Amino acid sequence: MIVVMKNGSSSVQIEHVVKLVREMGLKEHVIVGAERTVVACIGNDRLKDRGALETCDGVDKVVPILAPYKMASREVKKERSIIPLMNSRAGAVDPTIGGRKIGVIAGPCSVESKAQIIEIAHLMKEAGAVGLRGGAFKPRTSPYAFQGLAEEGLKHLAEAREQTGLAIVTEVMSIDQVQVCCDYADVLQIGARNMQNFNLLNKVGETRKPVLLKRGMSATLEEFLLAAEYIIARGNPNVILCERGIRTFEDYVRNTLPLAIVPELHRVSHLPVVVDPSHGTGKSYLVESMCKASVAAGADGLIVETHADPEHAMTDGAQSLTPQQFAEMMTGIRRIALAVDREA
Ligand code: PEP
Ligand code: MN
Repeated sequence: MIVVMKNGSSSVQIEHVVKLVREMGLKEHVIVGAERTVVACIGNDRLKDRGALETCDGVDKVVPILAPYKMASREVKKERSIIPLMNSRAGAVDPTIGGRKIGVIAGPCSVESKAQIIEIAHLMKEAGAVGLRGGAFKPRTSPYAFQGLAEEGLKHLAEAREQTGLAIVTEVMSIDQVQVCCDYADVLQIGARNMQNFNLLNKVGETRKPVLLKRGMSATLEEFLLAAEYIIARGNPNVILCERGIRTFEDYVRNTLPLAIVPELHRVSHLPVVVDPSHGTGKSYLVESMCKASVAAGADGLIVETHADPEHAMTDGAQSLTPQQFAEMMTGIRRIALAVDREA
């Protein structure tokens, strides 16, 4: 349930509500919105007595949250969340996802070398990206395939941030990689294969780093939001949802990109939604169209794989745009963004 405070309720009144919530054996999450403050009560609240809360000073109403996900739901927070991608830097405009500007994250599937990531970082920055992606720990179907450069790759990413100011987005595959990824990166990516790795979700929930949570390839919308709920319930509200395509019978694409999820997620959740048309199609020639379609559907951001020499990329070359194709795509989405009252 959520306790909706009256407009202008005092901090003493809010603290009193929090105390009662704790006495009921529930955990509180205080969400200060532009118009009202809400105290979300987490835990099994079915048998709890709402009467005591309803009559507290400063309380407007107590309402049950119907959705199984609570903190991720729109019922708890009406305004869309805007997630900062990195810590404030003096004199810089800090990149965010969820505001008017569509945040584009771009870069190679994998960090292959220092020269590769530095070169592409500058080109992505010039074309208008706000984040640099690159995997240092790679989830590969085959154990014999390139597994990533690990910490060395993270160091190259950090160097690219030094030179460009781009926020670094990188995948963390296991609990023991969380600390080292936090040391070098700005945004932790949870890959599709790990969307329901609940121990990992809990662990990134204990950090304050923004988390780019990819939808599992066979996960329902509800399972996706419940995965986000794990992270938020541990205290980290900075979750960015990422649709990256799902497995279907269709085989002209690597995955099927179901864009109706963008407006549907916005309807039921306050979290920002990013689309990954690279994994969502698997074909570089389909990426620009699906970037445009994602922006038209209301996506708050895009994550796009790029490579200076896709034919020789160590991973996912077939779906990677060249820097020039990426720059053209950016021009294309700027026009669509304007049409839907956004900018890119
Ligand atoms: C990736 O971003 O390179 C990746 C492995 O993505 P996904 O988890 O969506 O397959
Ligand atoms: Mn990839």
